[in-house]
Amino acid sequence: MNRDNRIVVHKFGGSSVATAERMRTAAGLVEADPRALKMVVVSALKGVTDALYALVHQAATTDQPWEPQWLAVKERHRTLIHELRLSESRVQPLLHRIEDDGAAVERLLQTIRLVKTASESIQDRVVGYGELWSSAIFNALLAQRATGSDRVHWLDARPCVIVHWHSLGPVVDWPMSTAAFERHAAEWVRANAGAVNSEAHTTTVVMPGFVATTPEGVQTTLGRNGSDYSASIIAALSKAQEIVIWTDVDGVLSADPRRVANARVIERLSYHEAVELAYFGAKVIHPKTMTPAIERAIPIRIKNTFNPDALGSVISNQSDDSLPVKGITTVEPVVLFNLEGTGNSGAPATAERLFGALREAKVSVLLISQGSSEHSICIAVHARERAATTAALEQAFRAERAAGLIATTAIIDHCAILAVVGDGMAGQSGVAARAFKTLADAAINIRAIAQGSSERNISVVVDEHNATRALNVVHSAFYLSDHTVSIGLIGPGLVGQALLEQIASQRERLLTRYGIDLRVRAIASSQAMHLTETPLSDDWSQTPRQRLCEQGTAIDLHRFTEHVMAEHLPHALIIDCSASADVAQHYERWLAAGIHVITPNKKANSGPMANYERLKPARRKGGSQYYYEATVGAGLPIIQTLYDLRICSMSTTVVCRFRRSFATPKRRASPSRIRATISPAPTWRANSPSWRARLGCRLNWSRLPWRAWFRSRWWRSVWMPF
Ligand code: ADP
Ligand code: ASP
Ligand code: MG
Repeated sequence: MNRDNRIVVHKFGGSSVATAERMRTAAGLVEADPRALKMVVVSALKGVTDALYALVHQAATTDQPWEPQWLAVKERHRTLIHELRLSESRVQPLLHRIEDDGAAVERLLQTIRLVKTASESIQDRVVGYGELWSSAIFNALLAQRATGSDRVHWLDARPCVIVHWHSLGPVVDWPMSTAAFERHAAEWVRANAGAVNSEAHTTTVVMPGFVATTPEGVQTTLGRNGSDYSASIIAALSKAQEIVIWTDVDGVLSADPRRVANARVIERLSYHEAVELAYFGAKVIHPKTMTPAIERAIPIRIKNTFNPDALGSVISNQSDDSLPVKGITTVEPVVLFNLEGTGNSGAPATAERLFGALREAKVSVLLISQGSSEHSICIAVHARERAATTAALEQAFRAERAAGLIATTAIIDHCAILAVVGDGMAGQSGVAARAFKTLADAAINIRAIAQGSSERNISVVVDEHNATRALNVVHSAFYLSDHTVSIGLIGPGLVGQALLEQIASQRERLLTRYGIDLRVRAIASSQAMHLTETPLSDDWSQTPRQRLCEQGTAIDLHRFTEHVMAEHLPHALIIDCSASADVAQHYERWLAAGIHVITPNKKANSGPMANYERLKPARRKGGSQYYYEATVGAGLPIIQTLYDLRICSMSTTVVCRFRRSFATPKRRASPSRIRATISPAPTWRANSPSWRARLGCRLNWSRLPWRAWFRSRWWRSVWMPF
């Protein structure tokens, strides 16, 4: 392998090192990187930090024994060590380390239990062991796999990452950290910096993320999700050229993929966009990660350990201008405080006092909104800071309240902030309008609005129970084609299967050429159904019936309908390829609810006239379309032709001949020839009472022998004039 002289930082999140198999994959990714010096920052195994926090909490607040959970954490690490099949000389030191550290943790937990409280420093010591152990194990694995003269070292990151804790989180002490890094790690950096290109050895330095030290020498952490921040601090200290964050998704997505199924990868983001997204809830990266990288212009690449070939996202100075909105995120639960009253008007000091009081109380304000009259100020804070905020406001405005100058301090619980983020929104009109209109269309009430002057972020406050819906509808408004159709297909028989095949073969073309996005999201037979958030994969079109048997759940047309009518997708369509009269009974409800219906099923149009006639007002009510061309003349465009004739204002007499048996209901007294006048009149009256009187029966268009009729001279007599 030709060595590349640069320095890189790789950071592996908890899911990337959760099991022996994943650790091996991660090791392979490090080894495949040809750069000279690879600094590898490792998170705790997935779930371990949560378990350690829970242990501390349990020991401090309950009398329940914490030992079983603690033993489980230790056992998980021991099992991992065995599963990695390391050599005995590497296994023993690791097991001893777990025993020794474990004894220290046990003493800490016993102390917490005794004093019934856990100071932050004790808690930080306990939770930091997750990273200390995972990095030691990963180091042993890499060392065992190292070939030739490649070197692997473990570095204790604690003395190198020195941070002060402020109300806004940890802040790096750069002079102290640089000096400490120089003492502990500079030899590797120096050794590699001047090395010759052809020299085929690399140095890998493995270290724990998350853990750090205060300037006083007390162990601390960088806060939840802080290993990302560790990686960018180490990148700054080692003067790395790139940071690669390995996680379990393909990059930074346009929304949280756990809540928005259609979220898509953003290939390029600016540092500022990434900060805004992370600050407003995009868990994929810690918001502080960008700070050291911005100053030194180090690009951050987000990659998927489980799909390393995917390009991932790059966070750097360059953004992708083609997308004005890069992502939509939410923060919840939040509480809104609304300070209202005569005293606010024209009193700028009020805002100063308000924010002064909140700073004193160490409350961080997520969103501020104030009208120009200054009559009211609205702030949003994390729900966990509700009590502190209430007390701070009480205290700060006691005098005004007593004098009646502050009328109310309304508190609205259970809210969520929805943030729309993107550099391209600056100076572009219509972005906010689009978001607001979409929320209004989905009947989601907006409680407060804020837009920073950078115009990089528009935030609205909505009720918490609406948060996921709001996220989805706004996401769709910016990311989906206006012609995205949520399709439910009923009846996976011959016609249904042929249709699925056609959709599968044309989907891509329709999307790229015409922006028509057909998503078959539900499929049902008379017994089973299958609902899916992402469109049905194309292989369903081969054997839909069989797959429904294997994967389907019991049919429930109500749930089926709800699913097809996904609020975040602009159009809903049900295609009824069954021959069922029961299914046809639902058309009225579907059309009235705004679901378009396409059907080759003849039942709705050939049953009782009253049923058919109810469909028209339903369609008008829902603003939906009802297409039933295939119910007449086996797919010939008869209905459409008749409509077109009418629309062309042609007054034409259609003469058709048919057998008696095609008249309904009793197949009696019908003439063998019928004349129907197609005229530009608003309604076509072939089935009107007067016509029925003339025919002596109701004309059932769907049962007419259209094929024969088309071949006949009667048809030609109609068609020829055109
Ligand atoms: P790691 O353990 O690798 O640090 P995290 O769990 O901290 O991973 O972050 C990755 C997770 O963040 C993803 O699995 C995804 O569910 C979630 N996430 C939330 N918002 C976003 C987003 N906008 N883009 C990508 N992932 C997101
Ligand atoms: N293990 C820590 C956490 O779960 C830090 C990290 O994974 O980034 O918060
Ligand atoms: Mg993370």
